[in-house]
Amino acid sequence: MAKKQFKAQSKKLLDMMIHSIYTNKDIFLRELISNASDALDKLYYHSLQQDVSGLTRDDYKIEIAVDKDARTLTISDNGCGMSEKELEDNLGTIAKSGSLDFKDGMDNKSEVEIIGQFGVGFYSAFMVADRVTVVSKVHGSDEAFKWESTGVDGYTVTPTEKETAGTTITLVIKPDTDDEKYSQYLDSYKIREIVSKYSDYIRYPIMMDIETQKRKEGTEDEYETVTEPTQLNSMVPLWRKNKNEITKEEYDTFYQSKFYDYEPPLHTIHSKTEGQISYDALLYIPAHAAYDYYTKEYEKGLQLYTNGVLIMDKCAELLPDYFSFVKGLVDSADLTLNISRETLQQDHLLKIIAKNLEKKIKRELEKLLKDDREAYEKFFKAFGLQLKFGVYNGFGVNKETLQDLLLFYSSSEQKMVTLKEYVSRMREDQKTIYYAPGETIDKIDMLPQAQSVKAKGFEVLYCTDNVDEFAIQMLREYDGKTFTNICASNLDLETEEEKAQITKENEDAKAMLDLMKDALDGAVDTVRFTGKLQKYPVCLTSEGALSLEMEKVLSEMPNAPGAKATLALEINRDHPIAETLRNLYGKDDEKLKKYAKILYAQGCLISGKPLDNPAQLSELICELM
Ligand code: ADP
Repeated sequence: MAKKQFKAQSKKLLDMMIHSIYTNKDIFLRELISNASDALDKLYYHSLQQDVSGLTRDDYKIEIAVDKDARTLTISDNGCGMSEKELEDNLGTIAKSGSLDFKDGMDNKSEVEIIGQFGVGFYSAFMVADRVTVVSKVHGSDEAFKWESTGVDGYTVTPTEKETAGTTITLVIKPDTDDEKYSQYLDSYKIREIVSKYSDYIRYPIMMDIETQKRKEGTEDEYETVTEPTQLNSMVPLWRKNKNEITKEEYDTFYQSKFYDYEPPLHTIHSKTEGQISYDALLYIPAHAAYDYYTKEYEKGLQLYTNGVLIMDKCAELLPDYFSFVKGLVDSADLTLNISRETLQQDHLLKIIAKNLEKKIKRELEKLLKDDREAYEKFFKAFGLQLKFGVYNGFGVNKETLQDLLLFYSSSEQKMVTLKEYVSRMREDQKTIYYAPGETIDKIDMLPQAQSVKAKGFEVLYCTDNVDEFAIQMLREYDGKTFTNICASNLDLETEEEKAQITKENEDAKAMLDLMKDALDGAVDTVRFTGKLQKYPVCLTSEGALSLEMEKVLSEMPNAPGAKATLALEINRDHPIAETLRNLYGKDDEKLKKYAKILYAQGCLISGKPLDNPAQLSELICELM
């Protein structure tokens, strides 16, 4: 019988399958089982509508058999079956329903992407088989047909005999190569493993004869090998059950076994959504960050199921980057299994689901923050950094979403607080939210500026993560309140009267201060007196957007742009050193210059800025001693 040719696109797809380098070849079985399940669905619904009797739901099943000698793997169903024309149409022209999408979408996608994301249906059988035979009989008909193909050179459809209605697909498994052990697909344990991984929740029993050891009847310790029909799938997805039927332990065990975590999750979110698009989502917030979480190796994403069949292991589109720590899955009957149907529409549906999930995750985190502070703090310890990156990234487009989820260490509460809590405690005369960047809480505490702000009775947020200040600058303000870095020169603690007085003092001492500035060789932009330092002699402050801490962070980055903060050396006008300086000016300017250098070095030490020349400083000090 003359071979018929595949349609052009199908040929291309088939060719891709035969020469596939796709590593996850196991998915072919998922595709065939899912087709079988669809065929059972079709017959089932048809029988409901037409009131056809003869079959009850319990009779519907999928059977798998292996024959090692013949190297065949057979998948049978007693579903709707295919007529001669359907065999031609469905298997000769794959991708018929969405052929346009397919043609447009395929060229700019790699093979791995196409297979990995969607699977490519029936043809994926050719990843593991040399020859594929489909014998099918439509329910209620008495003719059966056989479709057969060994690859791109075409296929045949011939009449044949088949006892029962439905479809039987037989794969002749390829011989092993150095790279691929195709024979594993003839091993019933391997088949069982693949089924429980990808098709566990198929709602029809998937049966296979499996050999087990059984005690011989009438004996104590004699065993024999018996082959028993065994059901491979559990049929009921946890997430499809009612929430009140599921225990915390079940949720936890499911999470730990599915996402390989030794610790139970911190929080579980199980939601069922119906409406414009219906889906179940089971999401988990891990109790700790995975070892690779903050590396670029980490891949975010949720498992995607349609009707209980896994179609994607890590669907990245479902999670925004700032919630990339969330694990879990989404199951929606509105998504189709194959790209041969409307690809674009799927993207659209995915986007809607992703938006809903984002809102849901946010609400759940807010709830956790409100109801279980301890758990939330644990969460923030693990993933707060990611939220802060989220505020910073994209020029702050997501700051509204994230700002109320942030925590900072508070000077007055001595624990982590939210911005909302901070603002609620702000005094009437307080214009701004004070924050202090630094390496550790202890180091910040010792800053002269921190002492001054606290002495005035203001609460200070301590920022010990590198990203903190960048995130705060992106926030710009919270609840109408600006942020002020206490180490910046615009720290505005003095009264108007004091300010006027200091301005005058600085003007009067201008010549002396300039001399000191010149002695520092461009290290600072200004030297001036200040009234905010209480008992401390000096401090370094930054002017403009780039702070000292940010300069430190940037200088540690690879390809650092070498950004420099603009600095001022501020001298406490109430400290005896102010008088000493004044006395030196005009009498011993050389000594005054040396003092300037020592004071600048002190400022550096206090704020944690590395000294440019420690040896010179040591020499200077000894000289003066
Ligand atoms: P998809 O399932 O996404 O349409 P496939 O390439 O897997 O794409 O299958 C093409 C078509 O062949 C299916 O839509 C279905 O009509 C038919 N088909 C495949 N397997 C079976 C089966 N076991 N029983 C009945 N029809 C089937």
